[in-house]
Amino acid sequence: MSGIFKSPAFENAVVQFDRACESLGLEDWLKERLRYPQRTLVVNCPVRMDNGKIKVFSGYRVQHNLTLGPCKGGIRYHPDVDMGEVASLAMGMSWKCGLAELPFGGAKGGVSVDPRELSLNELERLTRRYTVEILPIIGPNKDIPAPDMGTNPQTMAWMMDTYSMTEGYTTPAVVTGKPTLIGGSLGREEATGYGVAYTIEDALRHFGKTLPGSKVAIQGFGNVGTHTAIKLAEMGCSIVAVSDVYGGIYNPSGLPVDKLLDIMKQKGKIQEFKNADKITNEEILKTQCDILLPAAIGRVITKENASQLRCKMVVEGANGPTTAEADDILEERGIPVVPDILANAGGVIVSYFEWVQGLQEYYWSTDMVFAELQKRMHGMFEKVSNYANEKRVSLRIAALMLGINRVAQAKKLRGLYP
Ligand code: GLU
Repeated sequence: MSGIFKSPAFENAVVQFDRACESLGLEDWLKERLRYPQRTLVVNCPVRMDNGKIKVFSGYRVQHNLTLGPCKGGIRYHPDVDMGEVASLAMGMSWKCGLAELPFGGAKGGVSVDPRELSLNELERLTRRYTVEILPIIGPNKDIPAPDMGTNPQTMAWMMDTYSMTEGYTTPAVVTGKPTLIGGSLGREEATGYGVAYTIEDALRHFGKTLPGSKVAIQGFGNVGTHTAIKLAEMGCSIVAVSDVYGGIYNPSGLPVDKLLDIMKQKGKIQEFKNADKITNEEILKTQCDILLPAAIGRVITKENASQLRCKMVVEGANGPTTAEADDILEERGIPVVPDILANAGGVIVSYFEWVQGLQEYYWSTDMVFAELQKRMHGMFEKVSNYANEKRVSLRIAALMLGINRVAQAKKLRGLYP
């Protein structure tokens, strides 16, 4: 493996890729090409901090492939961000866009920074400088960033403004996940979480269960975790455990989602909610529940804890929360895993709607966004579960096979240049 990508995240992505390729029968050169990104950019961003000192932050943008259209993928601000992690996430975006049949290749970007330690002004200066550094490779027809962990609509507003100022005209389609006032799509904020909830409904039905009364444990109460919780509560599920970066809470008789949202808004920590037991982020993975939803960081379900999980199903809201070794243990235990590229694809699907709306300067209603999202999520689950049955493989391998094959076949059709 090329040394610059060496990291547990990238190794895991490659193992999953190789497993999915086993029965695809792709030519060697295609596998070799798709195992690595097409293009990577490393940047170092000097930023004037509020105390007058200048600090340098390392950033990345990785484009995995541009075969089916411009690259698409989020920007992550997190202290663990490195080239290997960003490359693994970019690869995941390729398979996700392929599976969702979107006209995009996969990309991902990130800055190694803890955004909680920066003021709003520092974050703005970092974002603008990072945008300028990656400017040569982004654009509405080249590569379209979006929010990911640690970034949000405000980050996208700064990116869009920086890009537009250098172009000389407003270019809404250069990023997605913007505030609606400046060209963001209605429903984009909720899209990933709602998509996860629609997928949970499908997965339960597929395994002969129903949604009302199902108990759900959610690790991570950011954009994905909160909107999944809201939708699931609306659909009649009981949210029994929730955690954020500081720790979690558990109440087997269910937690009031609206109150949890208030607590997060007012106090910023879920453990400030008193009517529940306090648990750790490791303990939440082992709570008794029907559905475990890891919706925070990667590689939390590992060979060390997979045998102790007490859920009936894992649904991946986060990207890459389950290691390949843990996948094997869960499969042996008969615990199905609904993979990230299927479960959390709602975000990039509505990003696609936002991009289309931006290019056309014609904006959709919320009802239209959610109806179209729901239709696509249901269609995708059906496609993956049928393929998994037909090929006798897990949902993860089926989803990856479908995503990888679409990119590979498009590559073959286009042929080699020069
Ligand atoms: N960061 C999100 C993901 O991992 C969304 C990407 C996008 O909307 O482009 O799917």
